[in-house]
Amino acid sequence: MASAASVKSPVSIRPGKLLIDNRFVDAASGKTFETINPATEEVLTVVAEGDKADVDKAVAAARRAFDGGAWSEMRARDRGRFLYKVAELIDAHRDELAVLESLDNGKPISETSAVDVPQAAEVFAYYAGWADKVLGETIPASPNFFTYTLREPHGVCGQIIPWNFPLLMASWKLAPALACGNTCVLKPAEQTPLTALRLGELMIEAGLPIGVVNIVTGFGPTAGAALAEHRGVDKIAFTGSTEVGRIIQRAAAINIKSVSLELGGKSPNIVFADADIEAAVKGAMAGIFFNQGEVCCAGSRLFVEEPVHDQFVEALSAHAKTIRVGDPLDPATQMGAQVSEEQFSKILGFIDDGKKSGAKLVTGGSRAREKGYFLQPTVFDAVRNDMRIAREEIFGPVVSTLTFKSVEEAIRLGNDSDYGLAAAVWTRDITKAHRAARALRAGTVWVNTYNAFDTAMPFGGYKESGIGRELGAQALQLYTQTKAVWVAL
Ligand code: NAP
Ligand code: MG
Repeated sequence: MASAASVKSPVSIRPGKLLIDNRFVDAASGKTFETINPATEEVLTVVAEGDKADVDKAVAAARRAFDGGAWSEMRARDRGRFLYKVAELIDAHRDELAVLESLDNGKPISETSAVDVPQAAEVFAYYAGWADKVLGETIPASPNFFTYTLREPHGVCGQIIPWNFPLLMASWKLAPALACGNTCVLKPAEQTPLTALRLGELMIEAGLPIGVVNIVTGFGPTAGAALAEHRGVDKIAFTGSTEVGRIIQRAAAINIKSVSLELGGKSPNIVFADADIEAAVKGAMAGIFFNQGEVCCAGSRLFVEEPVHDQFVEALSAHAKTIRVGDPLDPATQMGAQVSEEQFSKILGFIDDGKKSGAKLVTGGSRAREKGYFLQPTVFDAVRNDMRIAREEIFGPVVSTLTFKSVEEAIRLGNDSDYGLAAAVWTRDITKAHRAARALRAGTVWVNTYNAFDTAMPFGGYKESGIGRELGAQALQLYTQTKAVWVAL
């Protein structure tokens, strides 16, 4: 167990336990696993390894909490008040949470303190406001009936989240589900369980009714699979790889769970020759190097129109070389460590594959520090859209640059992907921008920007990038079902 002194930070890290019925408990098996600091490769602490037996308990707790009605039948505004209190507590503990997230994930403190933690607080504040605004309709079906709809919670929601934005993903899942009156069982990623557990403590401090939120740390194929298969779970929400998304969807068929999936991407970032090139270079940088490239909507396929291609790639690699890769806790650090040895090796494997397939490595391509899973920002040029580095999600700081000659070709190549999470276009031509925005098959299209997010804007994928939209009013659809009521008059 690391002490505050050894990590030079204001957090003390204790062993993590499962949260069931508002109590922190060991796994039924007594097993634990280690969570490491990817910047030092050292163990941060051990965490309870929950499996099916623990998921059974957590689901039973969530079911009791739902059926008991203390939550789902609570005044909606009081649910909102609770969520608002959670937002305030996240804000009050923002420094601690930012450090904890950086330690567990390897991402820079400049990002956890400016993005992950404040946005997590905002998500709770935003859905606090929605809690008493989940409205049904009166429908003039027939003069002989009074007909209306109710929007009701599903019941028990299973929520499985990834490691790239651990606290933020927990918030995207829990806040709207709770606003709608559901109860939850959350499974954090094995690489980054610590901030979700701390959030659980803060929720208890905010007055969480017993069993409304349960957290089972553990592994995907055991704890995660048990949740996805569980007949006592009414809705399953998942963020992660498309590969596991398929497994979740299959498992959900067992009791016809409602399913929402936010999966991978290979998002096209398209730069036209008439764009503000300096802005587009900055956008391309943010699009691929933000969060070490561990972003589902990363602009990992960079299409640059032929006349400006050479100049663009030169500027991009010059900028990429200036990125400060290093200690995540140093406020000056711009890129931290990849989350795990597994991801680190996987990314190096892709870089190798890119080189072998004939793409041109322009910048980076190697490990950046002796110790820790640090990679250099990497730029490939002369990539073809049928190469593996253009088709598969690398989930690292590696951009594949391609070129094109016409709007039609850019759209065709941009859409030539199994994924459809996001896309961007850079141009000063407003007509071209709007035409491209319509033609691109993606859940988000950015024009002259990249990675813009707001809690009020829906986010999710076309094609194999997912089902459903999180954030905004749309997330309320994910966490409610509609009841039609007929009253004979
Ligand atoms: P992953 O396997 O899809 O993990 C996401 C979550 O699903 C984790 O909580 C994981 O648990 C759980 N899980 C894994 N197998 C499961 C199963 N059979 N049933 C139920 N839950 C299961 O992602 P990963 O292995 O960490 O990363 C692999 C790749 O996925 C990345 O390289 C990247 O391409 C993609 N990815 C995408 C996103 C995104 O935001 N779209 C996020 C992360 C990763 P464990 O942590 O215990 O395995
Ligand atoms: Mg860790």
